Amino acid sequence: MNVHHASILVIDPRTGKIIDGNKESVARYAGSRERLLSMSVGEINTLSRSEISARMKQAVSNRHHFEFKHRLITGVVQDVDVYSGPIMFDGRQALISFIHDATRRKATERKLHLLTTTDPLTKCFNHRHFLSIFSREFRLARRRQGALGFAMVDLDHFKRINDTFGHLVGDRLLRKIADTLRKRLAGLGGLGRLGGEEFGIVLSEACLGRADSILNELRAMVCAVGVPTDRGAASCTVSIGAALLSAADQNELSLMGRADRALYNAKAAGRDRVAII
Ligand code: GH3
Ligand code: MG
Ligand code: MG
Repeated sequence: MNVHHASILVIDPRTGKIIDGNKESVARYAGSRERLLSMSVGEINTLSRSEISARMKQAVSNRHHFEFKHRLITGVVQDVDVYSGPIMFDGRQALISFIHDATRRKATERKLHLLTTTDPLTKCFNHRHFLSIFSREFRLARRRQGALGFAMVDLDHFKRINDTFGHLVGDRLLRKIADTLRKRLAGLGGLGRLGGEEFGIVLSEACLGRADSILNELRAMVCAVGVPTDRGAASCTVSIGAALLSAADQNELSLMGRADRALYNAKAAGRDRVAII
């Protein structure tokens, strides 16, 4: 049977000194009982002294669940769930903490977060998460009267890629193009997959002065992406429509709508180009 024993620490809440612990705590944090009893929680918990003090105050008045990082005797820093509450120990007010390794729970949470926020094929933000990021950026920009831009990216005649090379090659090209866009945009804007072969870019303030040149650079980079096949390289061009936040934009849909119109213009003008309204 797989039994998980919690590490238990009894702590003096005024000083943070460890006044007792079970053998699991000795093994995890100290190596010997003497050493454990000479330690204080500040040597285990990675938070600052004042933050630890504040948490101990909370736990002395009421039971609490904390998510901490603990430094183990091996030097490894581990995510832990800590359940702390008040206890009388040798006639004085103390704090008792039950500590569980949270590494697996954290890893599962990270995986779940990734699954719910990213698109599996392109690894970009999925539609829903991308829109929530855009919506937050929009509200922030309006409040600060800051700048913001939105770009719609649509691959040109992508249906022909599938018709000529097959859907799998189409998928591979789509993924490679998304990787290229994401790498170039790091720190400049968020990239999301809006649907099929359409992407959205939230253009941050950092790149708005040169939005035209950055978007044209992206356009050129997409053209240069190729997937080798036995019938030659599969590649395509791209059209991009962008709009910059104006005082008239009451909500994000109006900014997106203008970017969509700009994209339509870019397509109508012959594709493989950037249009900014
Ligand atoms: P244009 O945008 O230049 O007008 O032409 P298009 O052929 O790209 O336009 P349309 O939006 O009509 O078609 C998009 C095509 O993209 C349809 C579909 O064959 C392809 N597509 C969409 N999503 C995927 C995908 O996930 N994988 C692959 N392989 N193809 C996709
Ligand atoms: Mg399309
Ligand atoms: Mg298209």
